[in-house]
Amino acid sequence: MIIKPKVRGFICTTAHPQGCAANVQSQIEFIKDKGAIAGAPKNVLVIGCSNGYGLASRITAAFGGGANTLGVCFEKPPTDKRTASAGYYNTAAFEQIARDEGLYAETINGDAFSNECKDKAIALAQANMGKIDLIVYSLGAPRRQDPITGELYTSTLKPINKGYTAKNLNTDSLTITDITVEPATQEEIDHTVKVMGGEDWELWIKALKQADVLADGCNTVSYTYLGDKLTWPIYGHATIGKAKEDLDRAAKAINAELQDINGKANVAVLKALVTQSSSAIPIMPLYISLLYKVMKEEGTHEGCIQQLYRLFTEGLYSDSPRLDDSNRYRMDDLEMKAEVQAKVEELWPQVTEENLFQLTDYKSYHEDFLRLFGFGWEGVDYEADVSPMVEADFK
Ligand code: NAD
Repeated sequence: MIIKPKVRGFICTTAHPQGCAANVQSQIEFIKDKGAIAGAPKNVLVIGCSNGYGLASRITAAFGGGANTLGVCFEKPPTDKRTASAGYYNTAAFEQIARDEGLYAETINGDAFSNECKDKAIALAQANMGKIDLIVYSLGAPRRQDPITGELYTSTLKPINKGYTAKNLNTDSLTITDITVEPATQEEIDHTVKVMGGEDWELWIKALKQADVLADGCNTVSYTYLGDKLTWPIYGHATIGKAKEDLDRAAKAINAELQDINGKANVAVLKALVTQSSSAIPIMPLYISLLYKVMKEEGTHEGCIQQLYRLFTEGLYSDSPRLDDSNRYRMDDLEMKAEVQAKVEELWPQVTEENLFQLTDYKSYHEDFLRLFGFGWEGVDYEADVSPMVEADFK
């Protein structure tokens, strides 16, 4: 079939297998060009490995450190008539390239929140990898089924205490209108914490430790976003922000849990970027389009792979990591620079439908969004008839 993007709102329902492979390849090349990362881990588990920050983490570990990697993701396989999800194609491409280079790479395509998935990961690690020395927790999930009670929890993106009205860019119609989001109920806050908070991260580490598959001195990291004034009402000080605060609590609990094997847990604060998760958050498309414009002009623009390279070299495997008062690695330093935020805040009220392409870098935002699904990569013939079927031996 000839595969074209089919975009509905913040979702693209098709993905291009060769374009996704080109995405993976370009991130691998970036990491290889940087050279070997000193002190890098050798056996790495990435939970949420198929897209965005988790995929970049896996690529950095494998191609910057020569690591064996076990990944966990939740992706849709292809059929004769429908393409797979982008994460499926990304992971198939990653595994092939890694194995061709002699690296162990295996992936569980299943629900990371379940006990079954954790058991499977432990069995694979015991059979095929040495003890795990880095666990990356990078899930972006809309819902979670509690593994004990079976109750289903759904996360929401809502402000807390009072409603919030803000400028929003509709990426389908390119119209800019005010949107009002009503405040979350206590139940919605609690459910969001249950899905995107630290509980499942803790359960993973407990299960891995109990099974004795963690190496002495292992590291674990979970990702968060803090943002500044413009995004606080819908992110930092909202339901998702509450869930992310819970990661700080979980990091402390995991540190205590890992004390006897000299392990450590940290939260890493990463920058705002176009991913499947972030494009679903109101106001983020406009904020990121402005951020692109300002940071590109400054020469400080970064994508997932650049952020991850810095997290490994300036954070996780640095002798002098940049940690904040809450023991978090700060990789959002360039986005949070006062001048950058001041410039974005100055431009924010000026943006209109007419000047969208001049005042913001929405063009790059949109291109990057499509590239997440394998569209717009150089060297790929998008008019060619390609099969959506790609072989993968996911567990
Ligand atoms: P993403 O949507 O690109 O990737 C999410 C990953 O989670 C995918 O691999 C997906 O398969 C996996 N996943 C989702 N549900 C799953 C389940 N039930 N079982 C197994 N795997 C599942 O997300 P992202 O933007 O890379 O976000 C990853 C983390 O980074 C999140 O914690 C997010 O809050 C954080 N973060 C994102 C940004 C940003 O701007 N995108 C900024 C800072 C921090």
